[in-house]
Amino acid sequence: MLQLLAARAGAAGTEASIEVRPTSARPGDVLLVLVRGAAHLPSGTAGTRPLHFYVQDDHHEALVPLPLEEETGPLSVHVDVDGTEISAAVEVQPGNFPQRELTVDQKFIAPPASVKARIAADQRAFAKAWRTAFGPRAFTEGFARPRDAEVTARFGDQRMLNGRKKTVHYGLDLDGQVGDPVTAANDGTVVLVRDCYTSGNTVLLSHGGGVFTGYFHLSAFKVKPGAHVKRGELLGLVGKTGRVTGPHLHFLARVDHLYVNPEALLALPFP
Ligand SMILES: [Zn+2]
Repeated sequence: MLQLLAARAGAAGTEASIEVRPTSARPGDVLLVLVRGAAHLPSGTAGTRPLHFYVQDDHHEALVPLPLEEETGPLSVHVDVDGTEISAAVEVQPGNFPQRELTVDQKFIAPPASVKARIAADQRAFAKAWRTAFGPRAFTEGFARPRDAEVTARFGDQRMLNGRKKTVHYGLDLDGQVGDPVTAANDGTVVLVRDCYTSGNTVLLSHGGGVFTGYFHLSAFKVKPGAHVKRGELLGLVGKTGRVTGPHLHFLARVDHLYVNPEALLALPFP
């Protein structure tokens, strides 16, 4: 079978090519690496991160996150295609993430001993969801906003909570009132539906390709664990559960075990 594929690639005279989208990115963004003309599953790296390829239509793809700590300047992407190395470069721009001061209920800064077990159980439930097996992407179109609403906070904000605790905002906040609809950003499988201490009522979706999205602080759930959902399908309703200053949707994106800027995922042009 492999010989047949190799022969076919050779017969077609196709030379392997690499394309990285976008060509300029910021720390926290996500890149799509496209390889065409490979007979076998390629392997490679983006900077120091390994690439996890899957087959998509007539080509191979890998999605790779840029850590928030990624240094600015050129980032090299190297891919081994059937024994030959091909490369591309991406320009990493400065993040320039703003600093913000926020005030939240003190019980979220220093959780009382009585909720420590609950927080630990929440963390185990998240970890289990993130361990969903890697596979090809389960979607054909790009990602869509889960709400058509104003952005109230962006990914990467450096936050000081109650003048004491430093955190990074690893999601995108979209405005809303309690009861407003929250829809799936793309086709996928529901891998978590849970009332969590910090994130409130939470839904996590697995989309394949190592991509997950999350929907926090909901007032109601409209899906069950294990359900297959379509892009735009109702997942739940906006709420103010968990650590919040008011009702909104905290929309989260995760690629290859790192939180990424949801706006970068939303903007990514999938072939
Ligand atoms: Zn948020």
